[in-house]
Amino acid sequence: MTSFRRNKFNLIVVLGVLMFVLACMCPTDRNDGAGSSEPESVDKESSSADVEDADNDAVDGKKRNEDKGDFIVERTTVDNPNFENLDREIKEAKVLEKAADKLNRTLILPHDIALRTKDCGTVNAFYDPKDNSITFCYELMVHLFKLYKSDGNSDAEANERMNKAINFIFLHELGHALIDSYGLPITANEEDAADRCSSFICIEEMGDEGVEWVVAAAEAFYIQSKNRQIGKGSLSDEHLLEEQRFFNSLCMIYGSNPSKYGGFVEEGFLPKERAVKCPAEYAKTAKAWETLLEPWRKD
Ligand SMILES: [Zn+2]
Repeated sequence: MTSFRRNKFNLIVVLGVLMFVLACMCPTDRNDGAGSSEPESVDKESSSADVEDADNDAVDGKKRNEDKGDFIVERTTVDNPNFENLDREIKEAKVLEKAADKLNRTLILPHDIALRTKDCGTVNAFYDPKDNSITFCYELMVHLFKLYKSDGNSDAEANERMNKAINFIFLHELGHALIDSYGLPITANEEDAADRCSSFICIEEMGDEGVEWVVAAAEAFYIQSKNRQIGKGSLSDEHLLEEQRFFNSLCMIYGSNPSKYGGFVEEGFLPKERAVKCPAEYAKTAKAWETLLEPWRKD
């Protein structure tokens, strides 16, 4: 905890970068804490994307929906005094405000979406369709730091990895928010779709830095997979197994540029049998998200 606090500034800086990325793209979540072993469930059925009446405006021959909302930063207070310093610094740095501003200049919304950071009393980050909000819990940041530490990383290394992973997680939550708010047609597992949305944004919009965010998240999935037993709970969970999220993350990166990331295969992290399919898999993922978000982008 001491080290985590000492490195808060670094965390804030990275979050600032994250918001820049968000501004460039997209999307909705429910507890995806890379570290959450028992994610809370959100009643997805209670929400309905209010997009039926979205008017389409043609701009340069492209269909654009009517902008009826903004990303809005919600004012929160912390109950746990352990998070007071982190909360104050994040708010003083206007991390979420900067993110909201850039997102609002990039994305059309059918309604407002609230952004908040807070102490939740649980390890989590989630999109709640009931009030259209994304919440990032301080407990998740601490959990990730401890997770990396448990794998032999120094305080500085653990903090650096945590900073990178939270970007991936935030983009995953944004993916859930966009799926819900836009009423995007997701034909398979939404959790996987949100992971792929995040990977796509990281890789396409942030280049090498974004790839490091995906790698950090993959590392967290890998460490977690070593710390738990597979049972009915994990097998029936809406999230894929951490092992699958690990390999899928590597597949997205490798698939985006096989020659650049060939090391994943050469060093045995990504099996050849899967790797050969990753370029086509990544291309389909990228095309899907580009197509889904196109009507919601501001020019
Ligand atoms: Zn999720």
